[in-house]
Amino acid sequence: MSRSIDEARAVLPDGGPVERALGAASPEIRAILERSLERRDLEEEDVRTLLRTEDDDLRALIATADRVRAEDIGDVVTYVVNRNINFTNICFVNCQFCAFKRQRWEADAYDHGIDAILAKVDEAVARGATEICMQGGINPQMTAFHYRDVLVAIKTAFPKIHMHAFSPMEILYGSRRTNMSFFDYLTMLRDAGLGSVPGTAAEILDDEVREVLSHKKVDVATWIDIISTAHRVGIPTTSTIMYGHVENLGHVSAHLALLRQMQRETGGFTEFVPLRFIYENTILYQRGLVRPFPQGASDLRMYATCRLFFRGSIDNLQTSWVKLGHELSALSLAAGVNDFGGTLMEESISREAGADAGEYTSPEEIEALIRSMGRVPRRRSTLYGEVGASTAAGNAHSAAESLPAGNALGA
Ligand code: SF4
Repeated sequence: MSRSIDEARAVLPDGGPVERALGAASPEIRAILERSLERRDLEEEDVRTLLRTEDDDLRALIATADRVRAEDIGDVVTYVVNRNINFTNICFVNCQFCAFKRQRWEADAYDHGIDAILAKVDEAVARGATEICMQGGINPQMTAFHYRDVLVAIKTAFPKIHMHAFSPMEILYGSRRTNMSFFDYLTMLRDAGLGSVPGTAAEILDDEVREVLSHKKVDVATWIDIISTAHRVGIPTTSTIMYGHVENLGHVSAHLALLRQMQRETGGFTEFVPLRFIYENTILYQRGLVRPFPQGASDLRMYATCRLFFRGSIDNLQTSWVKLGHELSALSLAAGVNDFGGTLMEESISREAGADAGEYTSPEEIEALIRSMGRVPRRRSTLYGEVGASTAAGNAHSAAESLPAGNALGA
């Protein structure tokens, strides 16, 4: 890892004016970067070009992303105090990139009942969490209305906690099990207390790639339908990409273009989160279908490109300390990132795939990492509103869940 950190450090801006970095870049790259500085849209072709940059071109890309971040968002880096709850690891979908799933007869399969989930929420609230991030495997034995029932139980006991839960794959499964349309199912979950939906299960939004990754997973048209419907019923979502497996640059650029188009139509994305594929314990890697993705400078290249491509559409770019580790995610703050994600308290999915960043990062540690990059930490609500002093007793984030700038739905 230290080599990848050194390589990442070597492409960071030197603190000088962006014009100097641009002056050292090739004319082709400089032209793209200047267009972004002029707030003109980048095209898919530009994404493919930027994702091939090296040396001075890469330094200019990162310096430009840093400048754009400073102009559009400022120096504050936000984070949320939350807890992850992966309530079951039983899953029949069998994604080839997933080391988390279990068959129900395996010794370490689990399915937390509602009481166990409530105990975890209670513990999180006692530690000041304002958000529960909850996703799980697709358990064929769950009752049809299980997701709704879990929400109702949590929100009855902890009315102020923000529920960020259920990936599009879970929404698909829940709507099938209940024979409800996506609109009706999502409306029911919203009324039961669902505050926002993780834009996961996106991986790469290309059906050929998805066939390799997981042929049972929600297809592209259905993913778009579910997310757009969530936005329509007033449930904001995040947006993600999983990079570094079988995809090519064309898949990445088309994926980003699709998300940008959706954002222009619905305004429902709160943020974009690039997620590097953690390969170690996955079937894809064990069968030789993927090679380790280069780490460090490659991650910064991805983050910087996303900052520029989403300029004017998705303002919040979130790093993933779970995937990158603490040091590299701190460095990513210099490549266009303005959000550090959450404390999590319990993270299983990436850890089982081989990530070693741990399951919890305390607010103090997150703030120290942010300050180490000369930036200003600020705790936020899930929807990028302000959070006041939270107290365990009252589950009282005094925070208004106010709408973030630049996202019509408040996402
Ligand atoms: S990624 Fe999710 S849906 Fe796919 S196998 Fe793992 S738990 Fe199941």
